[in-house]
Amino acid sequence: MSQIAPAITGPLFQPGESAPPLAGCAAPEITPKLTAAGADSMSATVAAVDHHHHRDRPLTWRDLDPVNFLGIGGAHLFALAAPFTFSWSGLGWMLGLWWACGGLGICLCYHRLLTHRSFKTPRWFEYVLTTLGVLNWQGGPVQWVGMHRIHHKHSDGENDPHSPKHGFNWAHILWCVTREPEGMDARNAAKDLQRNPVTAWFDKYHFLPQFVLAGALFGAGWAVGGWPLALSWLVWGVAVRVVFVYHATWFVNSAAHTWGYQSHDTGDGSRNNWWVAILSFGEGWHNNHHACDRAAAHGRKWYEVDPTYYTIKALSWVGLAWDIVPPKPE
Ligand SMILES: [Zn+2]
Ligand SMILES: [Zn+2]
Repeated sequence: MSQIAPAITGPLFQPGESAPPLAGCAAPEITPKLTAAGADSMSATVAAVDHHHHRDRPLTWRDLDPVNFLGIGGAHLFALAAPFTFSWSGLGWMLGLWWACGGLGICLCYHRLLTHRSFKTPRWFEYVLTTLGVLNWQGGPVQWVGMHRIHHKHSDGENDPHSPKHGFNWAHILWCVTREPEGMDARNAAKDLQRNPVTAWFDKYHFLPQFVLAGALFGAGWAVGGWPLALSWLVWGVAVRVVFVYHATWFVNSAAHTWGYQSHDTGDGSRNNWWVAILSFGEGWHNNHHACDRAAAHGRKWYEVDPTYYTIKALSWVGLAWDIVPPKPE
């Protein structure tokens, strides 16, 4: 999960300049333009992927990425304490932090802001959101964003890091706990983020804020209700919440590339899936998203409820979001 970003020299990019290439889906007058260097920062070097990779044969222990396996496995083990530590306030922490860390940190920040630059926001607010993003233990922003950009570039192709064409379980979790294949360097696809020293710092120390939050929840629970409440808030506010957001995120890669309807002929297996959309604050409208990856709104029909987009709209009313990339006209 933690790798140190290689030193990159060069100017910082403004948010818009680092945007991924257009999928031909946004009104040009509002779409942030790419500089030549910005385009270069998006070029993912995945041409030389080792196709004898473990996804195509039975897994062995040596295929596991030890840090990811222990982190993800440990969170699941810890979450097994949930029935024995239940409290209504613990459930409240879990739900509130699911929205803040999962909804705002992953869906709104890592995905729509940092990966696709679907809107602009003040730098300070981007860092607040990035803090919520690292609290999910899904890796730092550089790794996460690079991996997801490679997914879009090679969706359900041979170089897709997590396609169900290699098995549902591969797309859901196994890709995440095994070593990356030779030749697939996700970080190469997020050089724009590496150039920002603050984002690079978040990427390097992304695992730390979780311990601060865990200590705060434990301490506050102790102060309010002794050790039973301290344990309850820790288990539900961290372990249960982290595991819940893991699977919600992974269902976008697995279920929303397997089950659901296609409104657009995207040439890949992406689907619009209502229950994934509920779990992931609108990310389940994934076929719409692959059809027009820069667009801030993933829900296109009235019934395709997209809370992340509504949040971006609400942020725009208070000056915290602008240049919201519109979908292409149907
Ligand atoms: Zn996808
Ligand atoms: Zn995306």
